Amino acid sequence: MALRTLFLDRDGVINHDSPDYIKSAAEWQPLPGALEAIATLSQQGVWIGIATNQSGLARGLFTSVDLDQMHLKMRQGVEALGGRIDAIAHCFHLPDDCCRCRKPEPGLLEQLIRQRGEGFVSHETLMIGDSYKDLQAAQAVGIPAVLVRTGKGANTERDHAPTVPVYDSLGHWAELNV
Ligand SMILES: [Mg+2]
Ligand SMILES: [Zn+2]
Repeated sequence: MALRTLFLDRDGVINHDSPDYIKSAAEWQPLPGALEAIATLSQQGVWIGIATNQSGLARGLFTSVDLDQMHLKMRQGVEALGGRIDAIAHCFHLPDDCCRCRKPEPGLLEQLIRQRGEGFVSHETLMIGDSYKDLQAAQAVGIPAVLVRTGKGANTERDHAPTVPVYDSLGHWAELNV
């Protein structure tokens, strides 16, 4: 497969996750090798889009200013390594809001697909996530997915035994596939 578009979940894939949510730029800490993997792919011309559920906004755990600061830190971390993040789509709803964006719903990935425009080709696209919801969202828009064991990934692998390829981390996947 010629990979031209990469969709990533954020928490547990790019940065350390926490059951208490990631609420500030200070708490946002990249996983080993993650930013390097994104930068390398970006330099190779892969379009990078991030789809992230952030119900902590609706729960009042942090503000949209905090979220902007986390994403600035993430973008600057990738840019310092010579790459870029092309788009970030986030859902700020609660699970009970029944919105169409919160993964496993397809809305966030549909937003990224719209932003990708004519460059989007489903079989040249991959979604990498650590939650079963990420895999379901990818399936809902018809793109292949990979599970990583970071974040919730080891539990996802144990609880759902998904049929998608599984790697230890985003960095590990990139080492073997880029
Ligand atoms: Mg996650
Ligand atoms: Zn939503």
